[in-house]
Amino acid sequence: MSSSIVDRLRNGTVLGAEGYVFELERRGYIKAGPFVPEVVLDFPDAVRELHREFLRAGAEVMVALTYYAHREKLRDVGREDALVAGNVCNTWAYDPDDPATKATVRAMYAEQLGWAAEEGIDFVISETNDYLGEALIALEVTQALGLPAMVTLAPTQPDRTRDGYEYAEACRILSEAGAQIVGLNCDRGPKTMLPLISGIREAVDCAVAIQPVPYRTDAAAPTMETLRSAAGDRAFPIALEPFGCTRFEMASFALAARELGVDYVGICCGAGPHHVRAMAEALGREVPAGKYSPSMDLHPMFRSDISAKDAAFLHTWTA
Ligand SMILES: [Zn+2]
Repeated sequence: MSSSIVDRLRNGTVLGAEGYVFELERRGYIKAGPFVPEVVLDFPDAVRELHREFLRAGAEVMVALTYYAHREKLRDVGREDALVAGNVCNTWAYDPDDPATKATVRAMYAEQLGWAAEEGIDFVISETNDYLGEALIALEVTQALGLPAMVTLAPTQPDRTRDGYEYAEACRILSEAGAQIVGLNCDRGPKTMLPLISGIREAVDCAVAIQPVPYRTDAAAPTMETLRSAAGDRAFPIALEPFGCTRFEMASFALAARELGVDYVGICCGAGPHHVRAMAEALGREVPAGKYSPSMDLHPMFRSDISAKDAAFLHTWTA
C-alpha cells in the first residue's frame, strides 16, 4: 500500500514530472493549438509509454492525462507504489465578473474528478490556474471527494493572478482553505520561477510545489510565452527547442528548489525523461533509468586513458 502524498512530503522531497501534452505533441499524438489530449482515446499505448519513461526516470507521481493512469497500469511496469494524481487545469470558462461561470466550472471539475476518483486516484493536482477564484473551486471539488489537493498557479503575469492576488497571497488563501500543497507550475523556467517561490515559501506553512518549464526564461522574457527567436518570432509553443534547458540545468534547479525549502519539485511542459532522471539523481535517488545514466569517462575521446591514436585529434573536439 502506498503512503499518502502528505506522508511522503513529511519524509522528504517528492519528485514530480509533467509536460505530457507538450511531449506527446512532439511525438505526433496531439495537435498543437487546441492541445486536446485525444491521445488518451486514440493511442493509449503512447500515453502509457510516456508514463513508463517518466517513472523509470524517477518521477514519484504519475499524473493522469485526464484520467487514464490507474494502479493496474502501474502494476504492469512494476512500480505500483508510485502515487497517481488526478488532474484538472484552468478551464478558460471562468470569468470573475460573471458569477454564472462558477457553476459551469464547478460542474466541469466535478465530472472530471468524479471519473478520476472512481479510478482510485491518490490525490488531485489542480494546475496552471490563472485565477485564484477558479483554483478555489477546484479545491472545493477535490475536498468534496475527500482527496488531498495540490493547487498550483500559472505565473504568466509579473506578480499576481488574473483576479489580482499576489502569488504568495493567493497561495496563502489556498493553504488556509485547506490545500495540502500550493505553489507554481508552468510558463516560467527555473531562473524566473525560483524567485517567486521564495515568497510563497515564506507565506505558507503547508507544503510548497514548483514545476517550471525547462526553458531559459530571463528578465527580458520571464515566461515561455514571451520568448522570441533572434528574428523576433514567437517561440511558444512549438519553436521552443533553442531555449531548452539541459539535464544539468534541471538537476541544478532541483537542488536549488530543495535548498529553498520546496517540498514537491517537478517539471512541466517541455519535460523529457532525461531531465527527470537528472533531477532524481541530483536529489540522491537511485532510479531504474539510472542504469543507462551517462558515463562520459567511457567515451573514446573523453576517457582519461585515451589512446595516442585518438589523442592526436583531441584538439579538433575542443577548438
Ligand atoms: Zn506546463
